[in-house]
Amino acid sequence: MKVLVINAGSSSLKYQLLDPDTKEVLAKGLCERIGIDGHIKHTPTGKDVYDADRYMPDHEAAIKLVMEVLTHNYYGVIKDMSEIDAVGHRVVHGGEEFTHSVIIDRAVMKGIRDCIPLAPLHNPANITGIEACQDVMPNTPMVAVFDTAFHQTMPPKAYIYAVPYRWYTENKVRRYGFHGTSHQYVSQRAAEMLGRPIEELRIATCHLGNGASTCSVKFGKSIDTSMGFTPQDGLPMGTRAGAIDAAITEYIVDQRGYSGKRVESALNKESGMLGISGVSSDFRDLEAAAAEGNERAQLAIDVFCYKVTKRIGSCAAAMGGLDAVVFTAGVGENSATLRAKIMEGLEFLGLKMDPEKNNVRGKEAIISTDDSPNKILLIPTNEELVIALDTARLVREQEAAVKED
Ligand code: ADP
Repeated sequence: MKVLVINAGSSSLKYQLLDPDTKEVLAKGLCERIGIDGHIKHTPTGKDVYDADRYMPDHEAAIKLVMEVLTHNYYGVIKDMSEIDAVGHRVVHGGEEFTHSVIIDRAVMKGIRDCIPLAPLHNPANITGIEACQDVMPNTPMVAVFDTAFHQTMPPKAYIYAVPYRWYTENKVRRYGFHGTSHQYVSQRAAEMLGRPIEELRIATCHLGNGASTCSVKFGKSIDTSMGFTPQDGLPMGTRAGAIDAAITEYIVDQRGYSGKRVESALNKESGMLGISGVSSDFRDLEAAAAEGNERAQLAIDVFCYKVTKRIGSCAAAMGGLDAVVFTAGVGENSATLRAKIMEGLEFLGLKMDPEKNNVRGKEAIISTDDSPNKILLIPTNEELVIALDTARLVREQEAAVKED
């Protein structure tokens, strides 16, 4: 079986063609600057990369270009489009309606549209990506996999904000959480790597990339997470503030004469690591600047690590204990220094980092000492694989149901 995984942003489209049974990636790529001018980087496994400026007026043109390169006689990996059995779409927000991945039909499209107010930047782009695929591949089954779905198992005490209750009932204000496919994938892999059933493990998963969140995965289910109503909540990130005192917004409106929108934009795009350091949102730049003595870069790193450390502690409290901590995503997978700094002071939770084992990048590893009572793991995330597996499962279930009828 071959599944095409699509992650559509407002002006970009990431894709991956993979076989969910063998987990083999046939090709992956990225279309950028859609609607502006256009650039594609197509990486077929075992073949030359195709990297070119190509005009893409809209997402449909981008999907057509993806089909062109996937079936190309030199860069291609399949003979024609009919070899693609299904398409799996990443959708950011599924609200309370979508607790699992689903086959896309009219009702599902309406449900995703209904969630637009909750994710005004992301869901419209995801919808555009789905519709473009439907136009180009009208007979291919499609599945939606939601960033929020894994967290729908959180109990009310974890997702209810202490604001007027009607904000929840009438305006859907609650903690939803994001990065769900990543937290789900790495927690499952952690159980496999530890050789223990996930049903008996309490795992704190730390997805630390440009966006960052932690999740308390108790016995295989998300029971709490740091991102909230939007991805703004929780940890400070590359350019996002993370959780702050809500009164700061109104105070800055008064003091600096900003509009509410201007403050919101600053909290999203000018805060976090960039805001503190004034150097960069990228941890590689921060580590380099700090090594040269830049104090604000060092402060940004200190703030980030301190908040992640505290979150891991709160995961342990939420789950009544902690068997494993997992690091994933850009920072979590690549920076041994940050991982070590985050774990400093968590020995009291039975988590002992092995500095030599921690000296690893981008591959699965247990990085705690052999005698550490609880375990620390590095697991590269693979959201595309989760999307492909869910897509294959649902499409096969539907085919089986049709045959039974
Ligand atoms: P996104 O949330 O955009 O998917 P990623 O998971 O790709 O982000 O993470 C990107 C971030 O990972 C970069 O901004 C960078 O800060 C960090 N990163 C990547 N490689 C390294 C590295 N070698 N050392 C430290 N940080 C790194």
